[in-house]
Amino acid sequence: MSGIQSPSAELLNADETITYDAVVVGCGVIGPCVATGLARKGKKVLIVERDWAMPDRIVGELMQPGGVRALRSLGMVQSINGIEAIPVTGYTVFYNGEKVAIPYPYKADIGAVEKITDLVRDGNDKVAANDSTLSVQDFENDERERGVGFVHGKFLQNLRDIVAQEPNITRLQGNVTEILKNKRNEVVGAKVDIAGRGKIDFNAHVTFVCDGIFSRFRKELSPEHVPKVGSSFVGMSLYHAKMPSPNHGHVILGTNHLPILVYQISPEETRILCAYNSPKLPSNLKDWMRKEVQPHIPQSLRSSFDDALAQGKFKSMPNSFLPGRQNDVLGMCVIGDALNMRHPLTGGGMTVGLNDVVLLMKKIGDLDFSDREVVLDELLDYHYERKSYDSVINVLSIALYSLFAAENANLKALQKGCFKYFKRGGDCVRLPVSFLSGVMPRPFLLTKVFFAVALYAVYVNFEKRGALGFPVALIEGISILFTAARVFTPYLYAELIG
Ligand SMILES: Cc1cc2nc3c(=O)[nH]c(=O)nc-3n(C[C@H](O)[C@H](O)[C@H](O)COP(=O)(O)OP(=O)(O)OC[C@H]3O[C@@H](n4cnc5c(N)ncnc54)[C@H](O)[C@@H]3O)c2cc1C
Repeated sequence: MSGIQSPSAELLNADETITYDAVVVGCGVIGPCVATGLARKGKKVLIVERDWAMPDRIVGELMQPGGVRALRSLGMVQSINGIEAIPVTGYTVFYNGEKVAIPYPYKADIGAVEKITDLVRDGNDKVAANDSTLSVQDFENDERERGVGFVHGKFLQNLRDIVAQEPNITRLQGNVTEILKNKRNEVVGAKVDIAGRGKIDFNAHVTFVCDGIFSRFRKELSPEHVPKVGSSFVGMSLYHAKMPSPNHGHVILGTNHLPILVYQISPEETRILCAYNSPKLPSNLKDWMRKEVQPHIPQSLRSSFDDALAQGKFKSMPNSFLPGRQNDVLGMCVIGDALNMRHPLTGGGMTVGLNDVVLLMKKIGDLDFSDREVVLDELLDYHYERKSYDSVINVLSIALYSLFAAENANLKALQKGCFKYFKRGGDCVRLPVSFLSGVMPRPFLLTKVFFAVALYAVYVNFEKRGALGFPVALIEGISILFTAARVFTPYLYAELIG
C-alpha cells in the first residue's frame, strides 16, 4: 500500500464479528451514494476504500444536469457546494473555427425531480445558499437545467464527508483482495487487507462492488465482462484561461484533428482533454501536443495552453466501453464503472452511475437484505429498467466519438452534417442536448434523431457536390448512411439486448 497516507485509527477499527446488511467496495463517486442511500434506509453498512485521502484525477469533473438531478433525488446535492464549483449552462461546439452554442434544456420540458423517501430530508435536495461560486437562485429558479464543473477530488471528499455523517455507516481503509463466496458460489462478503491487522473477512447480506474503471471484481459477474479500450484522453490543467464561452463545456472539432474538450473546474483551473486514437500514447507527448493540438486551440485559450504545455504536466486515461450486464449472482451487486462504461467525450459516466443508484434505492432500498433471494429478484429486474436511461448516454457517447474523431470520408461527412444540424437550432439542438445532459431517457427517439442527422449529412453532401456531382453524391449518400448504421446500431444492440 505504498503512497497511501496513514489513516486515522477510526478508519481501521471496523468490527468483523457482525454481519453487515451491506459491504460497499470503493468510495469513489458511486460507492458513497450507495452507502448513504442504504444507511438512510436503515441498513447497517460497511464501506471499504483503499485510500481515503483526496485523489488527484482527471476524471469526473463535469457533471451533466441528469447527474445533478440524481444527487437531488438522493438528498446529496450539497456535495457540489463549498468547493468553488463552476455552474455549467450548456455547451459550445467549435468546428473548423465556426461555433454553435447549445444551451441545456428547459426544466419545464422535463418534469420535477423525484425525491426518494428517507433519503431526501431537511432540504438536502436543494443547492445550499452562501456558496462562493454557485448561486442557489440560479440552480433552483432558473428556467433551464444546470450542470456543474468541479475539481474531482474535492467533490469526492464532500461525498465522503456525507458518508462520515451517517450513523449507520462504518468506514474502513483497506484494500479489498477478494469477494468472499460460500460453497454454493454465493457472495457472502469481502476480504480486506488492513494496515496493522492483515487480511480480514467481513460478512454481509449483499456486497456492492463499486471499484471503478479498473475494477478487479467486475469479473465476478462473468469472466467475459471485460472493457474494450480504443482511445485515450491526454489532460492538462490550464490556469486563468480566458474561456471563449464562459460557463459552457467546449467541444473543439475539425476535419484535421481529434476532439478536444475544455471546461472550467474552479475559478483558477480549466481542464483540457485531448483525444488520442489509441490506448498507447505517443512517445513524445509534448511534441504531439504542440503539433497536433496547439494549432486548433481557440485564440483566447492559447496563452494558458502554451503555459501548460511548457510546464509539461500531462495526465492520461484510457477511454473504455463496457455494456452493462445483469447482476445475477446471489449476494452481489456490481454498479458504477465496474458495471458499465462509455466514452468520456460526453461526460456521462457519473450521471449514469448516479441514476443507477436512484433506481437501485427504489428497487431494493426497502427490502430486508437477509432475504437474499428477494433482493436478487429485484436486481434481475433492475437490469432491464436501467437500460432506457443508460443506453441513451452510453450509445450517444460512442456514436459521437466516432463522428468527432472522424477517420474516413464518410465519418467526416457525418461530422460536418452533425455540426450543420446543430446550427439549424430549435429541435435540432433541443433534442441532442437533452440526450447528452441525461434528461431524455428515450433510446428510440435517440435512434430517430441520429438517423435524422445522418440524412442531413447526406443532404449537405449533395449540396456540396452540386447538380453535376449528383451521381457521385448518391453513391456517397448510401455509403454515409451505411457508416452511420455501423457506428450506431451495434452499440445500441449491445446496450439494449445485452
Ligand atoms: C478521462 C475520463 C474523463 C471522465 N470525465 C467525466 C466527466 O467529466 N463527467 C462524468 O460524469 N464522468 C466522467 N468520467 C467517468 C467517471 O469518472 C466515472 O463514471 C466515475 O468516476 C465512476 O464512479 P465509480 O464510483 O464507479 O468509480 P471511481 O470513481 O473510479 O471509484 C472507485 C473507487 O474504488 C476504490 N477501489 C478500487 N479498488 C479497490 C479495492 N480493491 N479496495 C478498496 N477500494 C478500491 C478506488 O480507490 C476508488 O475510490 C470520465 C472518465 C474518464 C476515463
